[in-house]
Amino acid sequence: MELHICHLYPDILNLYGDRGNIITMKRRLEARGIGVTVEECSIGQPLDIEKHDIFFIGGGQDFEQEVLLRDLSGGKGRDIRTAVEDDKVFLAICGGYQMLGQYYKTWDGSQLDFIGAIDVHTVGAKERMIGNYMFRTTPESGGTTVVGFENHSGKTYLGESVAPLGMVLEGYGNNGEDQTEGARYKNVFATYSHGSLLPKNPALCDFILQTALERKYGAAEPLAPLDDTLENNAHDYMQRRLSKA
Ligand code: GLN
Repeated sequence: MELHICHLYPDILNLYGDRGNIITMKRRLEARGIGVTVEECSIGQPLDIEKHDIFFIGGGQDFEQEVLLRDLSGGKGRDIRTAVEDDKVFLAICGGYQMLGQYYKTWDGSQLDFIGAIDVHTVGAKERMIGNYMFRTTPESGGTTVVGFENHSGKTYLGESVAPLGMVLEGYGNNGEDQTEGARYKNVFATYSHGSLLPKNPALCDFILQTALERKYGAAEPLAPLDDTLENNAHDYMQRRLSKA
């Protein structure tokens, strides 16, 4: 078995060590003897949607998100929509999450028309939503408690075809209003969680990897457990601190 990971816009959307998510997916596959390749695809480079099983998109500032608009409208946006509809797995963080949606109206009045691969839209607020936070993923996304860090101005609202990735336990999540956090549509996992997300949430990482293996190979054996003592210590420490907040 082998999975091909594509890191989209690694030189532009790269806040708060989001790349750590790729390293974590790679290491956790290799530890099970599953082959993995990682390729980068940025502005001006063609995207091979057939080849890749998992697409990763990190977060970025409003300015960096704006820089991508030309590249997205030059064909990559359409390719990403096709891959999403073909049940390819996506992990998108914050600015990358917003980019998969319909649009982002920034707090200072710019309208960034994004690709509409998932039916969500984002409206910027002057006050940023910043801090460590925690949410519980829905049963459809594994039903685990996720700890992370959020820093966004955008408030994201989900359309009818899109489910939340989870529900907020502490912090803001999608918009600080409806308790939802992130989005799940087909095999797209989108979240505001930086920090990186996956190193301290190994159960979510394995859920995403399992989804990709099942899409490619059909019903796959459950991934063998790994020694996650250090990862779980980091997770539980944050969970305890947030529970006291
Ligand atoms: N620029 C976006 C916002 O402020 C995304 C930020 C991010 O990726 N951390 O909402």
